[in-house]
Order: sequence, then structure tokens, then C-alpha cells
Amino acid sequence: MRIGLGYDVHALVATRPLILAGVTVPWDRGLDGHSDADVVAHAVADALLGAARAGDIGQLFPDSDPAYAGADSLKLLSQVAGHVRERGFDIHDVDVVIVAQAPKLSPYRDEMRANLASAMGIDPEQVGLKATTTEGLGALGRSEGIAASAAVLLEERCNC
Ligand code: MG
Repeated sequence: MRIGLGYDVHALVATRPLILAGVTVPWDRGLDGHSDADVVAHAVADALLGAARAGDIGQLFPDSDPAYAGADSLKLLSQVAGHVRERGFDIHDVDVVIVAQAPKLSPYRDEMRANLASAMGIDPEQVGLKATTTEGLGALGRSEGIAASAAVLLEERCNC
């Protein structure tokens, strides 16, 4: 078994849609970034890469590369999941925490789980997802950005 941890933060701006785990959440602000800035997909991808000891998404998809401008991060997550499988690992379990003061994300939880599971080729029951606030504390509490962290469990396939 291998465990992986991923974390990401993006700033909120008025000029972009808010995309979290592939869901466009209705709000007056969205996350800034080179890709679609889907902080959840990025955290999960980094957790997978960490568990597989395969670097990070900044190495795989550099933000200096125009190919990834506006990229659908669920597609990048699919590529990462494929990469991890090619290295001999099965994805067993994923758990995600989104830290956002607003908007309320619980109505989108199951759609987000389904999107992440589909991108990784696993069952939604293998994906946990919850959202929390910082009780108004700090930059995240002032809604200057949204953060996500993810933990994954991989199992190395046996060659016996
Ligand atoms: Mg990111």
C-alpha cells in the first residue's frame, strides 16, 4: 500500500467561473489560474502522484505551457490516474476536504464525487468528499481563495 497527500490553493477573482471537481458552481467569483483552476482535481492529482512517487502536476503539466491554458483539470486527473496505473498501482481510496468560506458546497457533493471517480476510472463509493470553512479566519475565511486537500491509498499490483 502507498499513501499520498495533495494540497492546492487558488485565489478567487470576479472574472472567472467557479469550477470544483468538474462542477461549475453558481457564484459571483471563480478561481484564478492557468488551467480551469479546479483546486480539487489538482489536489487529488498531486496525492496520486505523491503516492506513486511520480513527481507532481507542476512537473507533468507546467503552467508555462500554453497547451494547458484553460485546461479541463478532470482530463489532467484522468491522465495522472492512467500514469499511476502504468506504474503498477491500483487506486483504492480517495478522500477530499475543500476549505471554502462560501458558497455552500454540500448540494454538489455527489456530483463532485461522481466526476472525480469517473476521471480516475473508479467507483464513486471509493471517493469521499466534504467541505468546511475556516470560521472566517485568515485569507480563506475572507473568501480570498479556496483550498483543497486530498489523501489517496494506492495498492501496488502483485507480479507473482
Ligand atoms: Mg492548482
